[in-house]
Amino acid sequence: MPETADRRIAIVGGGPAGMALALALRLHGLEAEIFEARDRSAVRKDARVLALSEGARQILGWLGAWPASSATAIRTIHVSQRHGFGRTLIRAEEQGVEALGWVVAASEVISALDAALSRTGIPYREQTKVGAGDTAGFALTAYAEGAVDPDAGERRDYGQHAVLCNVRTAEPHRNVAWERFTGEGPLALLPLGDSYSVVLTCQDEILDWVRGLDDEEFLVFLQRRFGNRHRFLATTPRVAYPLGLRYRPHPVGARQVWLGNAAQTLHPVAGQGFNLALRDIWELATSLSGADDPGAPERLAAYARGRMADRRGAIGFTDLLIHGFGNEFGPLRTLRGAGLLAMDILPPLRGFVARRMIFGARAWP
Ligand SMILES: Cc1cc2nc3c(=O)[nH]c(=O)nc-3n(C[C@H](O)[C@H](O)[C@H](O)COP(=O)(O)OP(=O)(O)OC[C@H]3O[C@@H](n4cnc5c(N)ncnc54)[C@H](O)[C@@H]3O)c2cc1C
Repeated sequence: MPETADRRIAIVGGGPAGMALALALRLHGLEAEIFEARDRSAVRKDARVLALSEGARQILGWLGAWPASSATAIRTIHVSQRHGFGRTLIRAEEQGVEALGWVVAASEVISALDAALSRTGIPYREQTKVGAGDTAGFALTAYAEGAVDPDAGERRDYGQHAVLCNVRTAEPHRNVAWERFTGEGPLALLPLGDSYSVVLTCQDEILDWVRGLDDEEFLVFLQRRFGNRHRFLATTPRVAYPLGLRYRPHPVGARQVWLGNAAQTLHPVAGQGFNLALRDIWELATSLSGADDPGAPERLAAYARGRMADRRGAIGFTDLLIHGFGNEFGPLRTLRGAGLLAMDILPPLRGFVARRMIFGARAWP
């Protein structure tokens, strides 16, 4: 690694956030080098499924990395709670957009980013784990290492895991996504290809039991959680991810910036994580455009100021969904029902939620 200061930016972590950042910086005339601890091929094997907003689709398009042929459009989102009244429907045509968002396998997004990186020739140093001080010669170090340092961030534990799988249903999905809130945690069904991608939230206490279920038993369990608006026929094997809220209140430091899951790790139920990461990345690259010194404190401070409202909005919105909806306490359930009913009756409120899902806090772009 270089020992002299120059205009180059070191990116620690070659996951989707690190790759997108390198491409965005290049579009703004800045050179970056990526350092990734794992094999490049291992990074592409990501079991997550991403619900991406219109804003995210546009940014990935500008980066030359939108995997159009593998993305499924969401045209309706159905939000409801089990054992409670009230439900709301958010429809693309009502919001004046072609789609409310897209569902795409993270591995497809990463492969598209990886191919764009190869086309541009941006250096990607695989099997290179970066330690403290290793990147001191660079003008700026961007940390996209996928986790918030436990000593540097705020944390909230939800005591939950997300269980992911794909299921086939008796009826086609018709591009409808489902967000269902239950006392045991939220459940999301995202249309992907000709099946549904499931994000099932499980309290930690029952995780081992859920892991032990065979396919048939799991389908019965899922059906009970979801209700009978779809009949589940078959499932793929399950993968579980621990869930919690972690975020750095200040995403910048001396010649340092934190992005993606290294800046904030959010509960996936609201589908905000990578969407927010892409907005951060785009704004950072724009703020550094044409800089003689991309690590200059005033540039980084301006970036952090500019991103404060959107970051706080996405973190608060996600946390509200978990705490406002993930509780079986009777009065709360009534309030939630009233909230969903109000959303259904009051188009502006529905529009607000829809815009947050589609564009982010500032009705991006
Ligand atoms: C179950 C689940 C579902 C999700 N669903 C959605 C969704 O629907 N919509 C959405 O927008 N977001 C979603 N997210 C969030 C999304 O997956 C993340 O925002 C995104 O993948 C984060 O990418 P990243 O590059 O920051 O981190 P990662 O993908 O974790 O990449 C970090 C990389 O850094 C490398 N690394 C770590 N330390 C070092 C080091 N010291 N030196 C070098 N390399 C290092 C790692 O090997 C890794 O490859 C979901 C997340 C989960 C868990």
